[in-house]
Amino acid sequence: MSKPTVEIIVLFQNLGEERAYYARSPAPPLSGTLLAGLTPDSVDVRLRHEMVRPIDYETDADIIALSFMDFCAPHAYEVARRFRKRGKIVVAGGKYASTFPQAVMPHVDVTVAGEADRCWPRVVDDLVAGRHRRFYQAPALASLEDIPTPRYDLVESCYAVPVVLEATRGCPFKCTYCQLNIRPAPYRVRPIEDVIRDLTATARLPYHKRKLAMLLDNNLGGDMGYAKELLQEIARLKLWALGVQFAFSCLNDPEFVDLLAAANCRMAFLGLESLNEPSLLAVQKRQNKVSDYERKIMALKERGILTFAGMMLALEEDTPEYYATLPGRLEEVDPSAIFLSISIPIPGTPFHREMDGQGRIFDANLAHYEGDHLVFAPGHVTAAEVFATRKHLMRSFYSWPNVARRWGRLMRAYWRGGPGWAKPFGSLLISYVLFQLSHFQRYHARRRVFPSTVPVVPQRKEPRRRAPAVVGRPTGWTEVREAQVCDPSNANSVVRS
Ligand code: SF4
Repeated sequence: MSKPTVEIIVLFQNLGEERAYYARSPAPPLSGTLLAGLTPDSVDVRLRHEMVRPIDYETDADIIALSFMDFCAPHAYEVARRFRKRGKIVVAGGKYASTFPQAVMPHVDVTVAGEADRCWPRVVDDLVAGRHRRFYQAPALASLEDIPTPRYDLVESCYAVPVVLEATRGCPFKCTYCQLNIRPAPYRVRPIEDVIRDLTATARLPYHKRKLAMLLDNNLGGDMGYAKELLQEIARLKLWALGVQFAFSCLNDPEFVDLLAAANCRMAFLGLESLNEPSLLAVQKRQNKVSDYERKIMALKERGILTFAGMMLALEEDTPEYYATLPGRLEEVDPSAIFLSISIPIPGTPFHREMDGQGRIFDANLAHYEGDHLVFAPGHVTAAEVFATRKHLMRSFYSWPNVARRWGRLMRAYWRGGPGWAKPFGSLLISYVLFQLSHFQRYHARRRVFPSTVPVVPQRKEPRRRAPAVVGRPTGWTEVREAQVCDPSNANSVVRS
């Protein structure tokens, strides 16, 4: 007798399938591969990332498992409705279902709240036996030991880096916009031997994909002793390229930086968020020091590690004066790639409570809470200024001439330490990573940033003006450079479709 089939779908099309946008992300999110790895043998399992291919509503799968974040919740309800109409059993899980299960339950057959590791096998067994319940609450803070390896083999071939995993969960910091602070939990780590097992359980992949990996931790450096020990073990694997996420303050530890290099880390995702210190303080991101950005990023470049920097606009202390200097200041700080979004008051976070309490949220459509829309009245800038700055920055930063200039600076910094036998190959890999990230972000800009329109902010919620609050540089220090980088009339600075 054939087994039932579970199809896991990681949703992405928050604006609906008629306005689909297939991202060019080099790596998939972790949720789908992890859930597939947790799925027991009593069923066949399939995996689909809506980020790269559309949903097949004619699938012969018996059970549809939807994983989604907040901004995909309205879309998830529509997808669930269509599958249930076809007689499928629909299960929902993920960050939003865990935070607001009561909102999700009316739309699906089964809702799973919390971490899936210890709960999902039981849910599947109940579904197969026909005794499933409407709601499952996973145990809080369960052990992270013996979590099965993610199913990299089910990842779509278009992803350059299918090997994605995590070594830790949580973060010790308290940034007010961060989803981790909806229900703060202690920082936890997985056994190092489990992580190494997951990095090497790649036999079903093409050889070159076995040598690339991403650690998608929120903050790998929440326990520096653990992080260093793990990096030492990873170094023995001789990967070609490793991507890692960690808090900026980890770079205060030179040994950590050296161990990243030894593990062949080629890309560090860092939440810089702002080059304006008051804006960082407004969201409790005290661990970032703007005055250190340039020096610490240079230290990474010299070790062959490019920085992919998360940046936000519409933070509370942003001003027009800060936006005017931002392109030139970014050039000085010189991250090799940026992920530039509009700040999001995610429901449940302290930031959402603050904006909601002040009556500044004017758009409650969750589909718009993805970083491309503005849903609240910002403090000291207008909506038009936020959108103009974002479009302008994405055009100039990701023009090919500017990408090439940053590549040149990265290579010069890498080679400054003198030649090494591995540097030609390292240079090739770093160049490949930079090209992949730039391609990904240019495509996002064409599809989602440039066509975006400025929302109408209700009159009474227009920002109050105040004196500039830019910190860290004397005014007027990069006028010439800004003109070179930002001039929208310069055809070379325009991202082409
Ligand atoms: S450092 Fe990053 S992961 Fe940690 S709380 Fe802040 S935003 Fe969240």
